Amino acid sequence: MDLVSCKSDFPVLERHIDEQKITYLDSAATSLKPRSVIEAMSNYYSQNGVNIHRGKYYLSEEASDSYERVRYSIAQYLGAYGNEIVFTKGTTEALNMVAYGLNLQSDDIVVGFLDSHHAQMLPWRRAADLRLVNLNDEGGIDLDHYYELLKLKPKVVVLTHCSNVTGTVAPIDQMTKAAKEACDAIVVVDAAQSMPHPHLRIDVSKLDVDFVAFSAHKMLGPTGVGCLYGKSARLNELRPLVVGGGMVDWVDMEGSQERKIPHRFEAGTPAIASTLGFGAALNYLKQFGEEASLAHTEELTEAIIKGALARDYIQLLGTKSAKNRCAIGSLRIKGCEDLSDIARSLSDSYGIMCRTGHMCAQPIVDQQMGGEVLRISAYIYNTTEEIDRFYQSLDELVYFLGLV
Ligand code: PMP
Repeated sequence: MDLVSCKSDFPVLERHIDEQKITYLDSAATSLKPRSVIEAMSNYYSQNGVNIHRGKYYLSEEASDSYERVRYSIAQYLGAYGNEIVFTKGTTEALNMVAYGLNLQSDDIVVGFLDSHHAQMLPWRRAADLRLVNLNDEGGIDLDHYYELLKLKPKVVVLTHCSNVTGTVAPIDQMTKAAKEACDAIVVVDAAQSMPHPHLRIDVSKLDVDFVAFSAHKMLGPTGVGCLYGKSARLNELRPLVVGGGMVDWVDMEGSQERKIPHRFEAGTPAIASTLGFGAALNYLKQFGEEASLAHTEELTEAIIKGALARDYIQLLGTKSAKNRCAIGSLRIKGCEDLSDIARSLSDSYGIMCRTGHMCAQPIVDQQMGGEVLRISAYIYNTTEEIDRFYQSLDELVYFLGLV
């Protein structure tokens, strides 16, 4: 399927605000949802709407069946077994589950990266002695520093596959291999920004990672659900973060018996409608081949880089090559401290939706840019014309504000 012609599958893009079309450039925060995802969720509520894994009646068994089928289609997509797929609320919860569940000591060394999201950095900093790999001059990973830190024999290495600030795609194959060879470290991958792109799909039957975390809402699915992949041996050792109904075989006056994986991690009633939407999102995403996904991403990335480099008043974070980079651009505007005014004007005067702030990755944004950034991020439904329109609108605004 042609990536650009898929625009009509996203009902929100038919909306006009103050008679203007929407140009959505904030997909790194969350993606838009295609009609099939919305229908899968509303179909569950209108045709079923009951709880799963509880009742021995038709509707409950039907809902349970559909829910479990989503688990198996995610497993298939990742090259994993069904019992290695745990449903979570999202990437944040999945990473917290691993950082908590490994029972680390405060002096256990964990190696992480300066460009990681707070969802990756904070759980590990709380659980252990987190050491951060520096960035190189281009805002990419300093691999020499990484190899240096591996000499400390960390128990865990936490990789971010794609940075939500720079869009840089880390060479996780090479980095995983190095971590295993150096000290057989447990390798945890934050794939929140990479899993939305078919060309960056992780195949765990080929890549020796222990855990992978991602969120449905960044890959065309609904909010409220995500996934933790874990090797079955690792999941068996992991201590559940949340306990309660649905994750036990029995409970008596003194104790309880936990269920097998993955159910021992899924206490309480899950986000059933969202999980069914997740399944529909994955089906939708699978229509796009890896080659088309790579070509479209590179085209968008090139437009982001080219537009920034053509303007003296813009400072762009990250490498200036569209290779190994997703369509994310974090910008500073010379002489402008309050970027939120610019974002509001882009929205109100031009219908362009983009984000400002620290992007939940304050250490890298502060270190590399010295303050908040304006971020644009493009995805399958965006065109290079929309990126060009963003820059032309920005030109008008900075001129109007007297910044150039
Ligand atoms: N990691 C990265 C790289 C992200 O971009 C995000 C979301 N911005 C997260 C983790 C957290 O994802 P969620 O908010 O869906 O839990």
